Amino acid sequence: MLTITDLKKAYGRYHALNGLSMTIKDGALYGFVGPNGAGKTTTIKILAGLLSADSGQVILDGVDARRERQALKGMIGYVPDTFGVYADLKVWEYMEFFSACYGLEGLIARKRCEVLLEQVGLEDRMDQYVDGLSRGMKQRLCLARALIHDPALLVMDEPSSGLDPKTRKEFKELLQELNGEGKTILISSHVLTELDQMCTDIGIIDQGRMVLSGSMGEIMARVERSDPLQIMVYQNMDQAMAILRSHSLVGSIAIKENCLSVEFTGDHQDEALLLQQLIDADVLVRGFFRKQGSLESLFMQITDHEDKEVLLYEGKPGL
Ligand code: ATP
Repeated sequence: MLTITDLKKAYGRYHALNGLSMTIKDGALYGFVGPNGAGKTTTIKILAGLLSADSGQVILDGVDARRERQALKGMIGYVPDTFGVYADLKVWEYMEFFSACYGLEGLIARKRCEVLLEQVGLEDRMDQYVDGLSRGMKQRLCLARALIHDPALLVMDEPSSGLDPKTRKEFKELLQELNGEGKTILISSHVLTELDQMCTDIGIIDQGRMVLSGSMGEIMARVERSDPLQIMVYQNMDQAMAILRSHSLVGSIAIKENCLSVEFTGDHQDEALLLQQLIDADVLVRGFFRKQGSLESLFMQITDHEDKEVLLYEGKPGL
């Protein structure tokens, strides 16, 4: 298990990480999402041992990054956001070079390289120069290289950027396959839709802090609750507002296109009871529904710092 606690990192006066905390369970396929500049690469570089944090703790399976930096490096496979492949090497030379970096040589190294190249679908490219590989193939080669030492955690920084949709899909399937075999994976992206279909867990980082994290199930439940109830009142608006304002599960209330948009943390039963309460109070309701939630809209809500709606009533911070 990876535990990051209160991680801080500044570049000069700029604070890229402001007390980031997160946990990745063994076997997770963890989507690390945030807008540009949120601090993803900084976090990943600290994990990979390429940057030092100013303060905070990183512990992977009991190994503390600050005390045992070298040991931690050996437990992490890192795929950077740039390929960094050596163009004038053949595929097998490239793999053997990195095997040697991890102390693997001879037959054991050759066998390991063969297994990995087969896993990423490059077994027929052993004798080809790295330079001649397509972008997607280079990405898969980087992945194979990162797995040479059978790391406890595979960390990938925006691995899909620059790949066409088909190659991206194939790459995702490959990661899911690896994860299915038990590999714990952290994958970063600034595009949520890149990850939400494939991940078991999601962490959303913004301005150097974790703003939302959990299993996909938890996050999707949160998505459902985060989208406002839309209540269209035909008659008796004052009474409707009085009921909503005094309701313990109602947060803010906004009006948009003659429809009340109500922040409501209740479940389906609470929704039904609220509707009943409105009807019993002679409020004529001509529409009552939850706006269709999506993880993308929640992401935008969390990471968009401008309030676009006209707030009628600033209620309890329910969510
Ligand atoms: P992106 O999705 O654009 O790659 P990111 O979430 O990976 O962004 P980081 O690269 O970690 O974000 O950067 C976080 C912040 O720190 C940004 O504002 C960036 O400009 C700043 N930053 C990153 N590296 C440096 C550096 N070497 N010197 C100064 N500022 C830096």
